[in-house]
Amino acid sequence: MGISKEIERIAHKVSDDIRITPAEALVLWREAPLWLLGELAVGRKERVSGTNVFYNRNFHVEPTNVCVFNCEFCSYRRPKGSPEAWDYSLEEIETIVREKSGSKKACKDSSACGQSALDLAAPQCEADGDVQVVPPLGDKQEAAKGDVLSPQATEVHIVGGVHPDHDLHYYVEMIRRVKNIIPTATVKAFTAIELSYMIRKAGLSVTEGLQLLQRAGMEAIPGGGAEIFDETLRAKICPDKGSTAEWFEVHREAHRLGIPTNATMLYGHVETLEHRIDHLDRLRRQQDESTLLHVEQSAFNAFIPLKYRNRNNRMSDIGEVSVVEDLKTLAMSRIYLDNIPHIKAYWVMYGKTITELALAFGADDIDGTIDDSTKIYSMAGGDANPTMTVAEIERMAQNAGYTAVERDTFYNAI
Ligand code: SF4
Repeated sequence: MGISKEIERIAHKVSDDIRITPAEALVLWREAPLWLLGELAVGRKERVSGTNVFYNRNFHVEPTNVCVFNCEFCSYRRPKGSPEAWDYSLEEIETIVREKSGSKKACKDSSACGQSALDLAAPQCEADGDVQVVPPLGDKQEAAKGDVLSPQATEVHIVGGVHPDHDLHYYVEMIRRVKNIIPTATVKAFTAIELSYMIRKAGLSVTEGLQLLQRAGMEAIPGGGAEIFDETLRAKICPDKGSTAEWFEVHREAHRLGIPTNATMLYGHVETLEHRIDHLDRLRRQQDESTLLHVEQSAFNAFIPLKYRNRNNRMSDIGEVSVVEDLKTLAMSRIYLDNIPHIKAYWVMYGKTITELALAFGADDIDGTIDDSTKIYSMAGGDANPTMTVAEIERMAQNAGYTAVERDTFYNAI
């Protein structure tokens, strides 16, 4: 199939790293063949991150699936009192974090009994009045073989429903306790929608609320809750949810406070290509503003396109978009977002096979080991027990001709 002069012109702009307009993006998205989008996206990916494919050792904590909102596309929410609802106490969250991180209490001075402070099999010392909580050090090479993943987790990702009963102090305490158990991991916590709700409820400004959480140990913010920014569409699919303006207010303030964030887009439901481009364009403009005013590391680190999955929600009848559409969306995200460094193919959402393919369409990150700790996509039709070993990740990157690089939350290689 021949390529039109117009497509050729736009493709040259992309190859020369010249920013394309929303109108040009629409032409490319509608008319360019899949192979060309892949080629352009990979070209840009390799200019940004070379042959690296990033991943981290992480696990999620989902404190509750009870939510004051009721989005049409949500498969995760349950009403308060439902037998399928959960709402973990702070103690239960501590137990989850201890289990996932392999942490246990250890004596500050084990010399008295000769017992290793990091011996997980050892009984707790009787003289246990003064204890500290430490993550295991383990053997990095052993873990790299791919069996045990969460020990040495460098990130704890906390998101969930917007529970009506909890207040800001509960969330501050949650972060403190998580950080206390696994101090070497970064706590990346709460979508902008959760943050906006808990902060407003406390009667604080967004800045004041974020500062409180930041002091407790929140070091990064995930990208969820963005859905699709177009206000008319948002009124249809998530009418009572926090607004686009609220989402941006939280991210803008976070960047100003030096807290890096991610951004997502829920695609493949009732939106058009114009809505997707508008979404990407608003992010690109915000990133311009944030990076102009602050250092790049405290702006958007990564963009994550999230495919609408249609199991168990009120929009199930509309079906799901094709894999070709997934790959085009990924490639167009890499092409359009010339100022957001990383594009993530969230493997929990795509599944492992499509994630491998996604590496040929501009993704340079696949998220992390997860360790069967998230139910959000499982409840919408994804893998029931999502877990990826480091060995699998390394193979996946290698199959695509790249090198897997372990990173921390801030994309520093480890
Ligand atoms: S805010 Fe999140 S958890 Fe609540 S209903 Fe909407 S998508 Fe579901």
